[in-house]
Amino acid sequence: MQRILVTGGLGFIGSHTVVELQQAGYDVVIIDDLSNSQLSVLDRITSITGMKPDFHQFDLKEKEKVHQFFQQEKIDGVIHFAASKAVGESVNEPLKYYENNINTLVYVLKAMNNNQVENFIFSSSCTVYGQADELPITESAPVKTAESPYGNTKQIGEEILKETTTVSNLNGIALRYFNPIGAHASAKIGELPIGVPQNLIPYITQTAIGIREELSIFGDDYPTEDGTAIRDYIHVVDLAKAHIKALERLIENRNKEKYEVFNVGTGSGSSVLEIVKAFEKATNQDLAYKIVERRAGDITAAFADTTLAEKELNWKAELTLEDCLLSAWNWQKKIHENTLVE
Ligand code: UDP
Repeated sequence: MQRILVTGGLGFIGSHTVVELQQAGYDVVIIDDLSNSQLSVLDRITSITGMKPDFHQFDLKEKEKVHQFFQQEKIDGVIHFAASKAVGESVNEPLKYYENNINTLVYVLKAMNNNQVENFIFSSSCTVYGQADELPITESAPVKTAESPYGNTKQIGEEILKETTTVSNLNGIALRYFNPIGAHASAKIGELPIGVPQNLIPYITQTAIGIREELSIFGDDYPTEDGTAIRDYIHVVDLAKAHIKALERLIENRNKEKYEVFNVGTGSGSSVLEIVKAFEKATNQDLAYKIVERRAGDITAAFADTTLAEKELNWKAELTLEDCLLSAWNWQKKIHENTLVE
């Protein structure tokens, strides 16, 4: 049985990936410092899969612990989610972001190199493209100057990975996520935003359940059909499955380059208003919203060309926008009634 380390494995995308890994027959060990996740997620993963992943609670900035971990454990591959991810916060605290997202990446890669662990999957983001000149966005679209320290850590992370693979036995795949949404069909795991959600879907579900008064739609004067901005929203379970495909590619030595990059999106874009309408239809209720000013730093439109992932990873998003929105809504209801948040 292959043993896979998932850093940040109790977070939103991490927890869904752990479930998919276990269900695909991998033995999983998680490192998570619980800075933006909850220990109870471990039990909820276990109740979905019937298998309790091994868990180590520590901060990857503790370099010695990272090295000790890799010396003690026999690991076949690493999926690295652990990172800070609040774009706005990163603008105010850039050093926190460079330390949390860059130092930790360096420590993990060094420990991997020292212990002959060769397969690494990196969480990257479509933010590296900025406002792309052509849509849909292919992997060869130029990387644009980052809009935030967070975005910059993803670009630098990709470069670190690429440079490391050229001089070591390491093989790396960076997955550039478009907009991950939704929750597990069991409604046992999902997104747990801290405070006021910055992202669209949690804001919508919190509004619908009555925590927020109304959704503010950031701008209706974009050059799109209905004037609102367009994104490629992908179900977190589909995204999780892309990680398994990428990992298998490395483990089975099917990668064509030592460092590869794949877009992970659905290939089609939805405007904010389309999302609101789809949510209303899927959940059969009205959503209060108003139009406000554009949000600083937002781009007009982004959606993926997924040809490369389809061809090379044999992966394609399968769940619909309705699946995404309904699962997010079921999760929100579950949080509300169940005091899942402790
Ligand atoms: N958005 C919005 N109201 C909100 C949150 C987001 O209108 O309260 C819009 C945002 O301007 C963008 C889209 O929804 O066009 C997706 O935003 P999100 O923050 O979820 O993801 P991003 O693409 O910015 O990473």
